Amino acid sequence: MKIAMIASEVSPFAKTGGLADVIGTLSVALERLGHEVCVIAPAYRCVLQSEFTLRESPIKLSVPVSNRQQEATVVQSTIGNGVPVYLIRADRYFDRESLYGTAAGDYSDNAERFVFFSRAALGLLRHQPADIIHCHDWQTALAIVFLKTQAARYLETTAAKTVFTIHNLGFQGIFRRHDWDLLNLDGALFTPQLLEFYGDINFLKGGLVFADKITTVSPSYAQEIMTPAQGFGLEGVVRQRAADLVGILNGVDYSQWSPWTDPFITCHYGENSLTVKDDCKRSLRRIFGLPDKEDTPVIAMISRLTAQKGFDLVEAIFDLVMQRDVQFVLLGNGDTRFEEFFGAAVKRYADRVGVRIAFDERLAHQIEAGADLFLMPSLYEPCGLNQMFSLKYGTIPIVRAVGGLKDTVQQCDTDAETGTGFVFEPYEAQTLLDAIDRSLQVFHNQTAWTALRRRAMAMDFSWERSAKRYVDLYRQLVN
Ligand code: ADP
Repeated sequence: MKIAMIASEVSPFAKTGGLADVIGTLSVALERLGHEVCVIAPAYRCVLQSEFTLRESPIKLSVPVSNRQQEATVVQSTIGNGVPVYLIRADRYFDRESLYGTAAGDYSDNAERFVFFSRAALGLLRHQPADIIHCHDWQTALAIVFLKTQAARYLETTAAKTVFTIHNLGFQGIFRRHDWDLLNLDGALFTPQLLEFYGDINFLKGGLVFADKITTVSPSYAQEIMTPAQGFGLEGVVRQRAADLVGILNGVDYSQWSPWTDPFITCHYGENSLTVKDDCKRSLRRIFGLPDKEDTPVIAMISRLTAQKGFDLVEAIFDLVMQRDVQFVLLGNGDTRFEEFFGAAVKRYADRVGVRIAFDERLAHQIEAGADLFLMPSLYEPCGLNQMFSLKYGTIPIVRAVGGLKDTVQQCDTDAETGTGFVFEPYEAQTLLDAIDRSLQVFHNQTAWTALRRRAMAMDFSWERSAKRYVDLYRQLVN
């Protein structure tokens, strides 16, 4: 099959979170299964200024946005074994400091930027017909709406079947009604059954309504988004499409995320050479200026700093955790409130806490390798990747039983003879603290701890199985 992935992020070119990892690795996995895959993404400043080999494509695009035509060019690169990546270049929209906005907030023209990108991607597919057009998240949902409602404009691609993947229902692309003209769609589509959402325009809802099939990134999350607690107001729409919705767990790119081959760490280890992990722990402590204390565990977090990731709970119990014999390291950026909290925490616990407010790929790998425990107390978590990375590094996850975390981490029993991590359920500070205390108890039981790490490292979430599930889904559509 010919499969076109349309997304606003793709690793290694542009990444703010798991979406980029998924697009990069799923595309390569699909190609390995024998399909012809291409990826279409924006050519942001970070792409154009990168060291990747980029080639100008002869394709020129003229894209209708409102009553204007916006011109774009296409630069090309590849990932994996030659999967083409088409990067749509329109500097007025994408030559900016970040992907979606700055500390001051989202870019005010995000509606226009992603209307443009969605239409440009379809324009490009005129030159490159596909059997399956697979769009991801609100930024590209409109490509499906345009294709389904304006078939005459896209004759070369109208036969294509569409799949829409929700990576996070918390981000829907909701814009004011006065942006409607940008879309060049029939006004009749602005109704609560279709694109309207309480008087506003909801891009993601368009994907939900018009896609042939909908997927999300874990089986549990597929259930959760049908409930008011996690549906963000779209639970009714999701329920209406339940027959076409499937949860497919994300995979891990073990060529990047394995402790024995990790390109970002120097001391490599496996299940039977766990003492080498102690070297990684020492390096990590050096990076953060923390003293070496043999029996003290390092608890780590790598995350966008937002309430979704459970930082309210972390804040609430932080001083209590620090009463235990632990060290804590955090890599992340995001909400000022949490950046300030951790900035202050470092000052209070200078020799016990290390914080890096940044997005740093290399450091993320070094933390996975060097830490003992990995904390993900998310309020909600569509899939989550870091807990899967952590398992492979023998860095035991402490997670809340929600979404993909629930689907990938098995609770340790009281003697820690089974299970791969520490799981708590109610979103409460005390239950999180209890889970941390359970983990610390097992940490100090060397035999149980080693066995637990080995079980964790043996878990396998490679992409191949998940990619085959996508192929099954595509086949249902194409046949
Ligand atoms: P989300 O997409 O909700 O942010 P995921 O767990 O699905 O969460 O994916 C997050 C990805 O982004 C992981 O690959 C993680 O390692 C990476 N990441 C998050 N924050 C940082 C950071 N500050 N520096 C480096 N990598 C980060």
